[in-house]
Amino acid sequence: MAGIYVHIPFCKSKCRYCDFASFPDKITFAESYMACVYREMSLRKDDLKDYSFDTLYIGGGTPSVVDESYIAMLVAAARKNFNLKKDAEITIEINPGTISAGKIDLYEKCGINRYSVGLQSAIDGQLRELGRIHTLNDFVTCAKLLKDKNFNADVMIGLKDQTVDDVIKTIEVASAFGASHISMYALTPEDGTPIYTDYLNGELPDSDEVAEMYEAGVKKLKELGFNRYEVSNFAKKGRESRHNLNYWRRGEYIGFGVSASSCINNIRFTNTFDLDEYFKCILSGHLAVIDREDVDAEGQKEEFIMLALRTSEGIPLLKYKSLFGTDFAEEFAPAIAKMREYVEFLGDSFRIKDEYLFVQNSIIIEFLSI
Ligand code: SF4
Repeated sequence: MAGIYVHIPFCKSKCRYCDFASFPDKITFAESYMACVYREMSLRKDDLKDYSFDTLYIGGGTPSVVDESYIAMLVAAARKNFNLKKDAEITIEINPGTISAGKIDLYEKCGINRYSVGLQSAIDGQLRELGRIHTLNDFVTCAKLLKDKNFNADVMIGLKDQTVDDVIKTIEVASAFGASHISMYALTPEDGTPIYTDYLNGELPDSDEVAEMYEAGVKKLKELGFNRYEVSNFAKKGRESRHNLNYWRRGEYIGFGVSASSCINNIRFTNTFDLDEYFKCILSGHLAVIDREDVDAEGQKEEFIMLALRTSEGIPLLKYKSLFGTDFAEEFAPAIAKMREYVEFLGDSFRIKDEYLFVQNSIIIEFLSI
């Protein structure tokens, strides 16, 4: 399995917590940028001619802020340059407040079949505090336009003044308006973002409060029929994100646009985060890669374990043996014995117990250090 990611780095304004490559003041460059992405695809075309792609994910930024005709051309360029399967999952991230019936019509016509909506919170005060441009009403309008379509809603926990009830309300709203997939992420206050000051001032919930929100959210999502398949991702049956599952299964993917990362043939590489630099490289017929790392056999194994342990399915033991030629249970016997309170074998897999999935990071670090 392999996926394609395209980064569209434009937004209407910068959210207070955002440290992604997103440029609210550069939207006038959208047309030239998209032309560069099509060009970057053609530069990669020959290297990837033997690949067959199962997914295309258009993320950002806010892809729905650019003219929908560019998105249609983007999907066409992906099909023209690569073997994108007929039944590929094609996702676009959209933000309430940047969407219309006309846009969704064209998205559908060009083959987009999955949407990811940045709801974040159903409480307008919290949306304002985050610097989001939308209100709960905008989300409702957007969700109505997506009626009966396959869509995810992003929900954030750990927000200033957020209560457990606010988290429950947000999940209930997302579900009631038709989301069949919910990503529930804890806010990470990154140094250099305005929200980091709130964090330094002790204005954000502490880790115990965030854990409580997460547990309550998990319980509510379960009641509403969402199955947790990764620590932050919950889906109705059959609505799991194929694109993200490919990441967690350590599948291959190619990224286009500023800041996009790729993993092809055990080489990880990342494009420049600098928009001008990206233009300069692509317009002169060169790729815009700034970082490149060959992942050796040990690194591949470690990545496989770390990614798989984020998921509910865990590490598939037969696949592990076929990939690395060793028996996982034998190889990690001391770590498994030491960590047995937190981990378990289930059928053909090894995983972190459900009740400890939220703290998987520290469990994985400790597991790999034994
Ligand atoms: S919409 Fe997303 S990418 Fe854009 S500024 Fe907000 S958080 Fe960043």
